[in-house]
Amino acid sequence: MSLSRHALVTGGSSGIGAAVARRLAAAGHTVTICGRDPEKLDRTAAELSGHGVPVAVLTADVSDPQQVRGLVGRAVEANGPIGILVNNAGRNGGGRTAELTDELWREVLGTNLDSVFYVTREVLARGGIDKVDHGRIINIASTAGKQGVLLAAPYSASKHGVVGFTKAVGKELASQGIAMNAVCPGYVETPMASRVRQAYAQAWETTEAEVLTAFEAKIPLGRYSTADEVASLVEYLTTEGAASITAQALNVCGGLGNF
Ligand code: NAD
Repeated sequence: MSLSRHALVTGGSSGIGAAVARRLAAAGHTVTICGRDPEKLDRTAAELSGHGVPVAVLTADVSDPQQVRGLVGRAVEANGPIGILVNNAGRNGGGRTAELTDELWREVLGTNLDSVFYVTREVLARGGIDKVDHGRIINIASTAGKQGVLLAAPYSASKHGVVGFTKAVGKELASQGIAMNAVCPGYVETPMASRVRQAYAQAWETTEAEVLTAFEAKIPLGRYSTADEVASLVEYLTTEGAASITAQALNVCGGLGNF
């Protein structure tokens, strides 16, 4: 039986989201990616279709509930009910807590946590996921959603929130046949990872190369994970064989965290 479904991937124009879009499209799903920058989305879509995996694009800021409503409506109109939702959009953000601004706190929580609630609620209410066999919701959290990360209180708080949300809503949806899980990457080489190294280099008054060495030393595998390694677990969670995995938070981190 074909399990081909319509997948919506938020923040699909870059890093982990683009890798997830590539894998899901290659597996035969119809994929819609969304992000805030239409040019970046078009570039990613062109690159993926050049590799024989076409994706549709929609512009939306997922931290804005009005835009989320429009996004899900347009996605369903274009490609039918959503059977797979990957809440991937996110941003880094932190610093010394005494110096954090209200704006940064709200921006990080809005982008990483509120967005997961808004998009999930809309897909459940009007996205048609309840009418599709093997509905799946996968939230890209972080190992920072299970342990505190130094100088990253807003980020850690937001990702702990995503893990808690997933565990609660996963239980709620199980009886409807919709599985919901969080995938928790450790360090993954993406544009965000580079911004994170820049921020620590500034805070510690050192170089990005030194920060990279310090981070790699903490990872038992000795290296960052790749975006495709994260996408590979996401793809697995969409398969029929993964049906009994729900309300979990699974790490892809080279052994960085074992909790
Ligand atoms: P990235 O910066 O390469 O990609 C993030 C994507 O999200 C971009 O496409 C960006 O445009 C989009 N985005 C950000 N804010 C948005 C908004 N308000 N509305 C719509 N789109 C928005 O980063 P990445 O490393 O690929 O991160 C993807 C996810 O993985 C994030 O949730 C991040 O927290 C998580 N993560 C990353 C790492 C890592 O080391 N890279 C580790 C753990 C978790």
